[in-house]
Amino acid sequence: MTEPIDVAIIGAGAAGIAAGRRLMAAGLSILLIEASERIGGRAWTLNHDGMPLDLGCGWLHSGDRNPWSELAPSLGFTVDRTPPPWGHQFRGLRFPQQEQREAQAAYAAFEARLRSIAPETDRAADLLESGNLWNGYLEAMSGYINGAELEQLSVRDYLAYADADTGVNWRIVQGYGALVAAAAEGLPIRLDTPVTAIDADARHLKILAASGTIEAHTAIVTLPTDVLASGALRLPAPAHDRIDAAGTLPLGLADKIVFALDRIDGFEPDTQVLGRPGQARTGSYHLRPFGRPLIEGFFGGATARELEQGGEQAMATLALDELAGLFGAGIRRRLKPIAQSRWGRQPFVRGSYSHALPGHAAARIVLAAPFDDRLFFAGEACSPQDFSTAHGAYATGLAAAEAVLDRRFRLGGRTQPTGLPLVEGPRPRGARGAKPWTYPSGTNST
Ligand SMILES: Cc1cc2nc3c(=O)[nH]c(=O)nc-3n(C[C@H](O)[C@H](O)[C@H](O)COP(=O)(O)OP(=O)(O)OC[C@H]3O[C@@H](n4cnc5c(N)ncnc54)[C@H](O)[C@@H]3O)c2cc1C
Repeated sequence: MTEPIDVAIIGAGAAGIAAGRRLMAAGLSILLIEASERIGGRAWTLNHDGMPLDLGCGWLHSGDRNPWSELAPSLGFTVDRTPPPWGHQFRGLRFPQQEQREAQAAYAAFEARLRSIAPETDRAADLLESGNLWNGYLEAMSGYINGAELEQLSVRDYLAYADADTGVNWRIVQGYGALVAAAAEGLPIRLDTPVTAIDADARHLKILAASGTIEAHTAIVTLPTDVLASGALRLPAPAHDRIDAAGTLPLGLADKIVFALDRIDGFEPDTQVLGRPGQARTGSYHLRPFGRPLIEGFFGGATARELEQGGEQAMATLALDELAGLFGAGIRRRLKPIAQSRWGRQPFVRGSYSHALPGHAAARIVLAAPFDDRLFFAGEACSPQDFSTAHGAYATGLAAAEAVLDRRFRLGGRTQPTGLPLVEGPRPRGARGAKPWTYPSGTNST
């Protein structure tokens, strides 16, 4: 019989990796168990001709308070502080300055309505003005920001997001996904191992996978909400409210396509165009990111869903049509598609980032609540204000790790019903250590 490990971390994305780093540093025995053949989850950098391409997260949102910004230099990564090109149509192509100002004013007015009328309705679409010329533009923005239509969006949840406070967006030169993967260096990870169930009936947790069962004192579950809601992971029956909560925090869809550009003339570095400004069905194109000979297309919400359903070629076809509409037919010969994402088709992810359905903003709290003082939850959707981001995922992973350490502290080194042995970590024994032993009774509740 092998000894149970201290913590099984299910999912090796940003949240799982953050949790793993904290727990390893505290001296606990851990294992990250990852369903797919690579680490990073929705943080994923591909390399093309030495150019890193981020097909998942790319922006260090809230860069000035983002833990990944802090971590990057220590791992040999470079933070790029060039401001994002959003909100300025390159050369005003088919979107003159005056119209850009009107569209932005319409967005500001819409947000003001969300703030003022929010108590009366929680469905963002209810705050659209009927007949407003810019409603398509607002829907396109919602597709990029939330991956979903305004009809599907909780106002309260949208307003809880904290990035608006800082508005600082940076990037990682070598790729955000590469940074997240580098942060996992040295962590014990088992790949290609989808966990199918967690059994909490016995003295130790049993983590079930096709390749065998792993016993652990505690576990941290970091699965994307659509995976949890699908029932792919069976949880103990009393924890099923987490699965229900995940169902009300679906992943919106956003996808990227990257083209290599044969020559850079005619395109300024780090600029942007909307393909069909003012319409809901449009791509957004980042021209020459980092000055590289690339164009990165971005599609959200209903457009991204339609393109995934349309097959492998659909995204390139729409992108080339839109770019030809702006730059002339000759652009088609200058562009070669080199990579694209289809996040909705990734069986262990199933989408891009979470949003709350109308009336369900509070579900993030339910999802994040620990169960039985042994099963903890993390992942971007658990973050009350930084959801949908890689730094939100990091913060929830860290919080779950702290909760595990806190539990060990409370157990005070005795062997408890769960059999947790004392392993002294580097955590300072300050006021916490002086506390009486407070392992809660009736632990089958939250
Ligand atoms: C196109 C796109 C653009 C984005 N842009 C940004 C951006 O610019 N900035 C930003 O901050 N964020 C962005 N995001 C969001 C960000 O990438 C995610 O919020 C973050 O990476 C989520 O991390 P996580 O650890 O919560 O989940 P994940 O990264 O999804 O990790 C969960 C892991 O669990 C694994 N798993 C699933 N099922 C099982 C199972 N049964 N057993 C074991 N393992 C399992 C998955 O394979 C996955 O690796 C973007 C996402 C996408 C898709």
